[in-house]
Amino acid sequence: MLGYVGIEAVLDQLKIKAMKMGFEFNIMVVGQSGLGKSTMVNTLFKSKVWKSTPPGLVGTIAQTLQLHSVTHVIEEKGVKLKLTVTDTPGFGDQINNDKCWDPILNYINEQYEKYLQEEILITRQRRIPDTRVHCCVYFVPPTGHCLRPLDIEFLQRLCQTVNVVPVIARADSLTIEERENFRRQIQHDLKTHCIDVYPQKCFDDDINDRILNSKIRERIPFAVVGADREHLVNGKCVLGRKTKWGIVEVENMAHCEFPLLRDLLIRSHLQDLKDITHNVHYENYRVCRLNESDA
Ligand code: GDP
Ligand code: MG
Repeated sequence: MLGYVGIEAVLDQLKIKAMKMGFEFNIMVVGQSGLGKSTMVNTLFKSKVWKSTPPGLVGTIAQTLQLHSVTHVIEEKGVKLKLTVTDTPGFGDQINNDKCWDPILNYINEQYEKYLQEEILITRQRRIPDTRVHCCVYFVPPTGHCLRPLDIEFLQRLCQTVNVVPVIARADSLTIEERENFRRQIQHDLKTHCIDVYPQKCFDDDINDRILNSKIRERIPFAVVGADREHLVNGKCVLGRKTKWGIVEVENMAHCEFPLLRDLLIRSHLQDLKDITHNVHYENYRVCRLNESDA
């Protein structure tokens, strides 16, 4: 080939470097109390992506009273992922739910602030520790009706600050038909109220992104079920919920869409979620803060 230099060798270098450095990824779960957020944190860590359960996961789940992060380093084929999931206390328990989003938004902004303070130092660390929330999973109660005003207000604020993936919580309480209708209703409500959840249309880079992400947008909110116990089904150990009428398997697509959520977060869109966090959400924060201090 005339003038061929072999620039693609840079791809190998990027890969080697990424493997050396590893990845950091931070998820937050948000939603009303009792919707299965804490259970989902365990489901994410215990799910079969990682063959064995990381040590130190709690057995029984108590009510979550404060923001609490769990981190595990997961290594697969030489690739290291430091995954942190931040659990939050349920909101909406109070009679007056005014500003119940404040603690969550404050936490997200505090992580941006920490990053900013490191970034503006004259002598900077070679690698700034990244505690910014790359994706917030928002739990919608399985009412089967429309989004509640509280969810709408919360989501509107959240989407301006962070990537948000809404899910229908405890989806085992809905029939297949109810799930589909509820999903469509929520999609309609999100559109009506200009709530731009992840993956945002405006950040599709090209036609391939558009095709892939359109499919995901049609399926969001995923109808998920969480579980932290394993059961024997046909001789295989599966994560699931044992009920009187059988076992709801969380990793079985015939039962629920937890696999779609996990794959979106940890497999297919991890880097994109990080890029949008850095280039859009953090950038917005940075510009606001630096403008403030100029004034
Ligand atoms: P949180 O308050 O949102 O953190 O909810 P928890 O994870 O503490 O769960 C509250 C209760 O709901 C517990 O008894 C869980 O076992 C149960 N639970 C969690 N996920 C699901 C689910 O997907 N379906 C059903 N039916 N129950 C669930
Ligand atoms: Mg909890």
